[in-house]
Amino acid sequence: SMRNSRIEKTKTVCTYCGVGCSFEVWTKDRHILKIEPSIDAPVNGVSTCIKGKWGWDFVNSEERLTRPLIRQGDRFVESTWDEALALIAEKLGGIKAQHGSDSIAYIASSKCSNEENYIFQKFARSIMGTNNVDNCSRYCQSPATSGLMRTVGMGGDSGTMVDIQQSELVIIVGANPAESHPVLATRVKRAHKLHGQKLIVSDIRKNEMAERADLHLHPKPGSDLVWLSAVTKYIIDQGWEAVDFLNNRVEGYEEYRESLAPYTLDYAEQVSGLTREQLIRTAEMIHESGSVCILWAMGVTQHRGGTDTSTAICNLLLATGNFGRPGTGAYPLRGHNNVQGACDFGTMPSYFPGYEKVTDDAVRSRYEQAWGVELPAEPGLDNHEMVDAIEEGTLKAMYLFGEEMAFVDSNSNFVEEMFGKLEFFVVQDIFFSRTAQFADVVLPASPSLEKDGTFTNTERRIQRFHQVFEPMGESRPDWRIIQDVANAMGAGWNYTHPGEIMAEAASLAPLFAGVSYDRLEGWNSQVWPVEPDGSSTELLYTKEFAFPSGKARLFPVSWTLPYEPEAEYDLHLNNGRLLEHFHEGNMTYQSQNIRHKVPSTWLEVSPELAAERGIETGAKVRLVSPYGQAKLSVVVTDRVKGKELYLPMNTQNASEAINRLTSSHTDKITHTPSYKEISVRMEVLEDR
Ligand code: SF4
Repeated sequence: SMRNSRIEKTKTVCTYCGVGCSFEVWTKDRHILKIEPSIDAPVNGVSTCIKGKWGWDFVNSEERLTRPLIRQGDRFVESTWDEALALIAEKLGGIKAQHGSDSIAYIASSKCSNEENYIFQKFARSIMGTNNVDNCSRYCQSPATSGLMRTVGMGGDSGTMVDIQQSELVIIVGANPAESHPVLATRVKRAHKLHGQKLIVSDIRKNEMAERADLHLHPKPGSDLVWLSAVTKYIIDQGWEAVDFLNNRVEGYEEYRESLAPYTLDYAEQVSGLTREQLIRTAEMIHESGSVCILWAMGVTQHRGGTDTSTAICNLLLATGNFGRPGTGAYPLRGHNNVQGACDFGTMPSYFPGYEKVTDDAVRSRYEQAWGVELPAEPGLDNHEMVDAIEEGTLKAMYLFGEEMAFVDSNSNFVEEMFGKLEFFVVQDIFFSRTAQFADVVLPASPSLEKDGTFTNTERRIQRFHQVFEPMGESRPDWRIIQDVANAMGAGWNYTHPGEIMAEAASLAPLFAGVSYDRLEGWNSQVWPVEPDGSSTELLYTKEFAFPSGKARLFPVSWTLPYEPEAEYDLHLNNGRLLEHFHEGNMTYQSQNIRHKVPSTWLEVSPELAAERGIETGAKVRLVSPYGQAKLSVVVTDRVKGKELYLPMNTQNASEAINRLTSSHTDKITHTPSYKEISVRMEVLEDR
């Protein structure tokens, strides 16, 4: 009928979490009629979570940025694109000429496409001459990537959802997939309930998966490395290690076995607070299972020892032969829909696309030839070092797109102060973010429904999303804006479609050799490494690990003592995500559907602590850390115990934001902030 003829159905990929659900968006003009999943969607089939189903109305929000803005004193005025681009070219050009290429830094977006990340790092490296480019994986899974790089050689999940689903034993450490990766969690729940899969959850908060688990471990905060190593030692002491696998496929076993000497059950009981029975039961369950997957997230990585604990997880899987077979492997769960892709496509200070090092002469000369320029050979600054470099006076300007750095970096009071010191700051986003408040020029960008591109999910799966709407107002797709800025700096680029950008990336990075838009039509997807003939690699390490010898490496690690607070900060503050909101909520708070359901955040307090302090649900408290304070509303719940508090990170209100309380301490190897090591004191407010 005439009515139906105006309904458009367009395939897209979810813009929220790293699970990577795909579905059709049904639209009429600019109205989103519904989200229709398909049995053919490779990750989710007919499932979605609340965000994928209902969280799209932010696209039509009246708060969208629709014109470029230029700072005049302490206010912003609308400008034309020509004015904004000319100003950027003048300022960035001037700062580069005066202070050198490395005085400018570039922050990429894990919400944007592979193609946008690719041309952003190309811009930073080839036009601006610096490797100072990074993305928000440094706030989350960089420690996991580096733990994987040390042991198995590649920074991605070992297999796919299918492996997680068919594994005999799933171990979840420091993650809450029921809220953070809902559709993936659904698969585990189903396998556990219907197909005899066993489930161990280690988490200091009794989240939904912990409630369902056959075994819930509640270690002391920051002690995971110790209990993981003790379980591995116990397995080896029992003679349960995978002897053939270790002999044939793994290097460094003797040295590693010796390094486990301190991790006795006694020591692990004392440090982690877990019981001997729990530790032995964990070891037995691993021994009894033909295949084991370990899933982990921020509860592991956001500590000063995050890389080492991630390494301990990989060591445990290697010692028990749990790599390279269906149902096995290491699965750091990626947060943003395209944080995997942002890393994969080179927005990192040490890597070109496909994890080839910028220090490798042969690799660099391949890019120099293709791009026709000389490229910097030294790794650049990561995002943590960038903030420090502003303080030191060596970093003068930044260009950031699709990233809420002022709010999501730890110790945000300090980060905001540093952003205020920049000589010139370009922020490109779909909304006027908190970070934009510090900008000199704000560029209006388009969300995924207004452009073409690809995203890569936590499984390394590359999926195509298609344009549904025209860009709102004068907003433009990020890849166009980056090209416009590059051309204002004299690049002379002429990409007319993201497919051309992907073709260039695939021609240069062997990891993506056979990736092409033709092969990504419809519901098709490709899982990297992708061979030149287009074939995917769903399960890694079936024959070889990603080192020259083809063998994996056991990597001895030692435990970092948790941060010792001063006595006055007597409570531990944990934090994490919520099902309904995504992270700080820059998009979900613009969705009326979702905002209506969950309008703000809250502080979870244990019944014991509530009784001791004489407070109930609804009480107002102030949390104070050495770095700042936050005012919060209490929910009393037995999900948390004793002196451990929990604060969901979703809020648009700076006075209740977790990063008013976090420190600038970081993981030793990757500089990932130790968001999970916070000590606070709690003051009950009288006006409750
Ligand atoms: Fe989107 Fe993740 Fe929800 Fe799937 S599980 S619909 S990818 S937010």
